[in-house]
Amino acid sequence: MRKYSTKFKTKNLLIGLDNKPKNFVIDINGIKIAGKNFIVIAGPCAAESKNQLLSTARAVKKSGANVFRAGLFKPRTSPYNFGGLGEKGLELLKLVKEQTGLPIITEAMSLEQLNLVSDFADIIQIGSRNMYNYPLLIAAGKQKKPVLLKRGFSATIEELLLAAEYIASQGNKKIILCERGIRTFADYTRNTLDLSAVPILKKLTYLPVIVDPSHATGQRELIEPLSLAGAACGADGLMVEVHNCPEKALSDGQQSLSFKEFKRLMKKIKKIIKALKNPK
Ligand code: PEP
Ligand code: MN
Repeated sequence: MRKYSTKFKTKNLLIGLDNKPKNFVIDINGIKIAGKNFIVIAGPCAAESKNQLLSTARAVKKSGANVFRAGLFKPRTSPYNFGGLGEKGLELLKLVKEQTGLPIITEAMSLEQLNLVSDFADIIQIGSRNMYNYPLLIAAGKQKKPVLLKRGFSATIEELLLAAEYIASQGNKKIILCERGIRTFADYTRNTLDLSAVPILKKLTYLPVIVDPSHATGQRELIEPLSLAGAACGADGLMVEVHNCPEKALSDGQQSLSFKEFKRLMKKIKKIIKALKNPK
């Protein structure tokens, strides 16, 4: 039988459950993430245009999303694919925030990008590919904005937690963990969503854990069922890709929901959350 480890302990780590700081809370412009609220981060994979961003932000806000996502710097597998608007897109994201009031999360892949986005973004995203980028983790720990740390697609739970510890060790404990699927032999989906990571992480750390069914599955049809499952497993929130016209998206359109699909998902999610709060 394949060996597996359940021995990893977090007692001596800053992020360990036993070492939860008093009144620990991650406050994002008044939205508190600390085990009570369920947060929904939604928006396109990449920022493309003013109209795309504003229409999507308005639609997701109307359906109940709390945070708007859009990448300016995209870690694309092929160098020939759309790599994002880069610095030019900063003004567009500022406009979205101004017009909708939604907090913004965006990814930084390098120290330079971190400096650029940490001034205005409300949450800094460190993506799956950079979970092992220790200089980036250290720099994210030295600045004050909350960090969303995505699980590396071949990272164990131990490695994910130790990556978070890198950030915390520099003074920033405002870290949200994100299960976004890992690479397995299963090839029907883009990755395999490791839902057991959610309750396991909750036993090991006080950091909030969210689920990203878009990158986990790569398929629009699977986003709803896996979002509902993530919520039922005790996740603190979701990150879902939504696009004003998924068929024409410059990246990840096949795993992006339309406005209508997102609205339906939110209705169902609210029911699950309510049922979990009132089990009778
Ligand atoms: C993303 O969320 O934009 C992204 C690139 O995801 P991941 O890092 O999980 O691949
Ligand atoms: Mn994407």
